[in-house]
Amino acid sequence: MRHQPDYNILLVEDNPGHAELIDRAFQTESHCHLMVTATLEQARRLIDVANPDLIITDLKLPDGHGTELLNPAGGCPTIVMTSFSDEKIAVSAMKSGAADYIVKSQETMASLPRTASRILREWRLVLDQKLARERQQRLTAILEATPDLICIANLDGFLTYINQSGRFLLGFGKNEDISRIRLADFHDPADGQKILSEGIPCAMREGIWTGETTFQALDGEQILTSQVLISHRNQQGEIEFFSTIARDIRHLRAAEEQVEYLAYYDTLTGLPNRNELAKRLEMEVSRVRRHKNHGALLFIDLDNFKYINDSMGHPAGDQVLQQMAQRLRGSLRGDDTVARLGGDEFIVILSGLSENPVEAVSHAREIATKIGNAIALECRLGDVELHITASIGISMITVEHSDSDDLLRFADTAMYQAKREGRNRVEFFSESMSSNVTRQLELENQLRRALREKQFELYYQPLVDNDGRAVGAETLIRWNHPDRGLVAPGEFLDVLESSGQIVEVGDWVFATALAQMTEWRGRGLWQPEFMLCVNVSPRQFNDRQFTENFHNRLEGAGMASQNIVMEVTEHNIIDNLDDAILRMRELIHRGVSFSLDDFGTGYSSLSHLKNLPVDHIKIDRAFVKDICHNPGDQAMIASILTLSNHLGLKVVAEGVEEREQFELLRKLGCRYYQGYYFSRPLSCSAMTDFLVDRKSAA
Ligand code: C2E
Ligand code: CA
Ligand code: CA
Repeated sequence: MRHQPDYNILLVEDNPGHAELIDRAFQTESHCHLMVTATLEQARRLIDVANPDLIITDLKLPDGHGTELLNPAGGCPTIVMTSFSDEKIAVSAMKSGAADYIVKSQETMASLPRTASRILREWRLVLDQKLARERQQRLTAILEATPDLICIANLDGFLTYINQSGRFLLGFGKNEDISRIRLADFHDPADGQKILSEGIPCAMREGIWTGETTFQALDGEQILTSQVLISHRNQQGEIEFFSTIARDIRHLRAAEEQVEYLAYYDTLTGLPNRNELAKRLEMEVSRVRRHKNHGALLFIDLDNFKYINDSMGHPAGDQVLQQMAQRLRGSLRGDDTVARLGGDEFIVILSGLSENPVEAVSHAREIATKIGNAIALECRLGDVELHITASIGISMITVEHSDSDDLLRFADTAMYQAKREGRNRVEFFSESMSSNVTRQLELENQLRRALREKQFELYYQPLVDNDGRAVGAETLIRWNHPDRGLVAPGEFLDVLESSGQIVEVGDWVFATALAQMTEWRGRGLWQPEFMLCVNVSPRQFNDRQFTENFHNRLEGAGMASQNIVMEVTEHNIIDNLDDAILRMRELIHRGVSFSLDDFGTGYSSLSHLKNLPVDHIKIDRAFVKDICHNPGDQAMIASILTLSNHLGLKVVAEGVEEREQFELLRKLGCRYYQGYYFSRPLSCSAMTDFLVDRKSAA
């Protein structure tokens, strides 16, 4: 038996006889609970609390008209009873929302349960339909609001529905007739075929198909989508219709491509970057191995690019790089690769030059020269006309030489050779360069071991004043080589510098010197006003950590940096003058002072002096050497001394070996000296003895 829901029925009847009669009629209907009341007021209260499913009300009630109960808040049907047949009243009751009406009689009242049942059934139906309609509206609203294309097609493939995003994407209007349109018409032909031969069969077989397809909008625009095709079956299991959802993935794809691009291309020039170069070089190398057709690798470095960057700013530097990239591309064939390694370094791979090695080399030279010429063409930046040149190193790609890393290293070595030979030239890699490189690498390894195994040692050369009294010392590094004995820095500093090891070694120098000074101080050998002069190399000085490392060393030694003098050469600072001055100021702020070493050599110019925050200058040994015999050197030193005294700079004369030199210098106004005449550089213990002697002499 079907379960019947329970109903609460409210009867509003002031005639007790009628109420009695109706109540009895409902008694047999166990699923109906009748509440009876005689007045409107009570009825209203009951409606509020009991929420009836049906109201049966007499028209005339002591406190008003039964029609006042129509359309209660909760919403339920109402049957109105009249005592006599009155068409007008009935019609107006129905119009105001009554579900039905009866004219009271024995029979109509007795059959009220049936009437009620019918009304309740009808009401339920109406409610269900309303709910279904609402649900449908909600679903449609969702479909219409989603940004994906959604459509429904019948078994013949014709559309029966397409949502707003779909219409928008494909480009047709809201009211356009879609019944003659098939979705496959909107795919690009190949993908239309894919849907027919793959998508639909799969959706029929497995219920769903997914894939990437390209739609073609009415205006011809191609839209890449991720598409889902679903078959829908009825209760008998027959396919009734298809639906599809397609998401525009063009942005996603573009973003993916951008990521891919960034990984393999240089954004500034659009050239392949290091990663892409590695791939292409691998390809070229294996091609050479297969076909024995030689190629070449060109390492191209712009000359003096740093100068452009520093003097004209990075945007100008960027423009130059872009122009150069274009010229490089313009000088090459389509199969050749040009890549940017970083900074102002470019790599060119020349492919399939010749099977004959001599011919291949001569082709490579021709092309490299052509590239060099293209780069050397005048380069305009606004009103400025620049002349840029490049140094080019070439390594040939042959069956014997076909390791990518080696090739790059060889070309790099050759490029450095081109720089050393005066720039703006082409150099081929040769075996002798390679043995140089090998030697260099060996030395690097040995030096690494030297630091690890504490083979470095600090020597100290005293600084003296006019009376020959010690006023400090310069620290000078030595390498205590296990086989070769004491090695002077001239033999290994270049390698420390080019390999970058100088940063670590320089740090060790500071640590050692500071510790030594602390010890001498503790023993009363080192006067508070003594200067400790430490040499600082360009690479070390330009290292980002330099200031911080130094500071840490000071803190480790528990001292302020008073009387620490850093000796720098103009080489150190000339490359990046403004930056260097900032850094110097920062250190000066922490109590360091600076000495300009090797003054008179290299770039040295007196005009520089007044811009640099230095306290001391050291006149290079080369000038001191001949001072007694060479009037030119004498005049030079005289003017340096005059100017320096004028600027308040202390001057140290280096390399004083003879008494005459010392006396002449003193006469010219010099006040500080260093040299074999006073003392050679001393080992730590010898320096200690020296300090002890001087102390007891004083
Ligand atoms: P420098 O700074 O010009 O140091 C002076 C050099 O002249 C020292 O050579 C010293 O031994 C030598 N010398 C001193 N008095 C005389 C003299 O009367 N006659 C002659 N002929 N030579 C004299 P050294 O020790 O071989 O150092 C060479 C260079 O190595 C130094 O030149 C300095 O630039 C560099 N250097 C030394 N130690 C370090 C260090 O710890 N760090 C860095 N970055 N460079 C250092
Ligand atoms: Ca020095
Ligand atoms: Ca010097």
